Amino acid sequence: MSRPVTVRVPAKVNVRLAVGAARPDGFHDLANVFLAVSLYDEVTAAPADGLTVTCEGPDADQVPLDRGNLAARAAEILAKRSGILPAVHLHIDKRIPVAGGMAGGSADGAAALLACDALWGLDTPRAELLDICAELGSDVPFSLVGGAALGTGRGEILTPVPAGTFHWVFAVADGGLSTPAVFREFDRLAEGRDIPAPEASPALLDALASGDPDALAATLANDLQPAALSLRPRLADTLAAGTRAGALAGLVSGSGPTTAFLVRDAESAARVAAALEASGTCRTTRVATSPAPGATALPEG
Ligand code: ATP
Repeated sequence: MSRPVTVRVPAKVNVRLAVGAARPDGFHDLANVFLAVSLYDEVTAAPADGLTVTCEGPDADQVPLDRGNLAARAAEILAKRSGILPAVHLHIDKRIPVAGGMAGGSADGAAALLACDALWGLDTPRAELLDICAELGSDVPFSLVGGAALGTGRGEILTPVPAGTFHWVFAVADGGLSTPAVFREFDRLAEGRDIPAPEASPALLDALASGDPDALAATLANDLQPAALSLRPRLADTLAAGTRAGALAGLVSGSGPTTAFLVRDAESAARVAAALEASGTCRTTRVATSPAPGATALPEG
């Protein structure tokens, strides 16, 4: 019998999330600069008679354990494509905030895909794994690839971009925000306005490559932020508390409600995290660095 396979997979933050007008298919064209950060879930695939999912971690009770779990969907799609039954137990060690705009579900989808591929000895070509990821969701291909990348289309067409090292603090809010609800609020706020085609500015890509936190702080931007703030006005207090505590810049992570703070170094990260926790404007904080590698199988044992 095959041995269990564990895959570690990072969360993401968007340093630029440019959103275009709604397309006829309901999706939005995006120019999305993804950065993988050193906050990880681990997904273990073990031999089993059928498909089952378990989850542990502080937010485990918010994670669906049925076929709605992206890890289970990944296993099903891979098995179907390969003409086998999805006989696997998937265990998720969940550290990425749930429904926090950090692509935690997408991360688990990418991790389960890689773990099942290894468990079942399929050796599926990378390009095919990326196709399955895109089928699972717009953010899933990036979870597989990691590092730093520009995502276009609905975010799933990836071009790797160079990135220096940066330090981050994440403030985790109480409760989640639904990504479709935030896009609907974006559409509502955009009504009657001309929405330009989304693009990532050369200044931002230069700043990312340079590793200069002041330059990156000046160019961070998220077009979904007004919509997230409109649905959750108290996030403005979290953003203010982080910048008051010495963060170089703060922004809503993806569709929120997690907020991300760019800081100068590890000491500053610890200070800003402590101040945010003391401010009472968030549930908890996490400190991380970027870029982080994409989904990776851990050595056995
Ligand atoms: P994104 O940044 O990609 O928009 P998110 O970080 O805001 O996503 P997720 O943590 O991926 O949000 O969860 C969104 C919803 O997806 C959850 O409320 C949950 O119902 C569902 N979900 C499905 N699979 C998972 C999973 N493995 N982990 C967490 N949530 C999952």
